[in-house]
Amino acid sequence: MVVSVLSMDEFEIIKNYFKRESFRSDVLLGIGDDGAVLDLKALDNENLVMSTDTLVENVHFPSSINAGLIAKRALCTNLSDTAAMGAVPLWFTLSLTLPEENTTTAWLTDFSQGLFEEAEKFGCTLVGGDTVRGHLSITITICGKAPDKEVLKRTTAEPNDMIFVSGTLGDGRAALSLIQQKKFVSERLLYRFYCPQPMIDLGVELRNLVSSCIDISDGLVSDLTHICNASKVSAVLDVSKLPVHEEVKQLFPDDFAEFGLYGGDDYQLCFTAPESEKAKIINAGMRSNSRITPIGRIVKSMGSNKVMLEGMDVNENISGYRHFG
Ligand code: ADP
Ligand code: MG
Repeated sequence: MVVSVLSMDEFEIIKNYFKRESFRSDVLLGIGDDGAVLDLKALDNENLVMSTDTLVENVHFPSSINAGLIAKRALCTNLSDTAAMGAVPLWFTLSLTLPEENTTTAWLTDFSQGLFEEAEKFGCTLVGGDTVRGHLSITITICGKAPDKEVLKRTTAEPNDMIFVSGTLGDGRAALSLIQQKKFVSERLLYRFYCPQPMIDLGVELRNLVSSCIDISDGLVSDLTHICNASKVSAVLDVSKLPVHEEVKQLFPDDFAEFGLYGGDDYQLCFTAPESEKAKIINAGMRSNSRITPIGRIVKSMGSNKVMLEGMDVNENISGYRHFG
């Protein structure tokens, strides 16, 4: 039976849907007190890596989708930041703003099931949060760990480094386009959009091999520009090398290169490394089941020309990221 949770107060929602026995023994005190108490021995003398991200209904996901997918997307996109740091996730908090209307027991059941399913897959556990009324939005803060001096950063790309990406690019943009046009979307594209698997294993494998790393959330050019700005370098991309899936090429024969360059929501890793590390990087990809493609080179800073395509300047103002609504 679908019951509106208007009758349920915040404490009942927390108790019924979010308070679960943690599978991590380093959670000394979890949900229920004023704060979580975590055993820092879990860090194994490594550094704590923290990141946070907010997803807002109709901006970062359409309101019509299943609550389980909303939860999965919220956690997976946050975990993608953890992956981009080369960190392993441990704990997370969830701040949930729920609308009075449309929040049913069925919605909360689907949401919490989706959340816990993904969290368990990546070995991290919910330790606290906040629940308030308002327009639907989800903020997740993740704590992970990574060894000192081995975190992957944006600031350390060097001229002559090769540029690589994992997986395929343009899937997120292709899926979004089909969803918005209410066209048929294949299982593969739906999964890539709603459940973008964070590249945690790859991030760990890339420690000590790469000079810089970022996850692609806003589109390759946009995110690579962040590396260029942070590292004070420029980049040259070979557009013909972009790993775009055959399905996207067939569905969007005129647009697939644009999707690959500027499309958001792919949550793959883009990273740079000296050519001497190339073979090791391809092997690291195989060990973590990720296809790795070299797509260009870092060059000395060309001033405001950050990312160039086969010698052409890329208009920095072009953003492939499209919001809902
Ligand atoms: P306080 O008023 O002290 O901030 P709250 O009533 O907000 O406490 O929360 C009570 C407990 O429930 C806290 O341990 C908090 O971390 C946890 N909590 C609240 N909302 C969530 C949520 N959405 N997910 C997980 N834990 C939550
Ligand atoms: Mg609170």
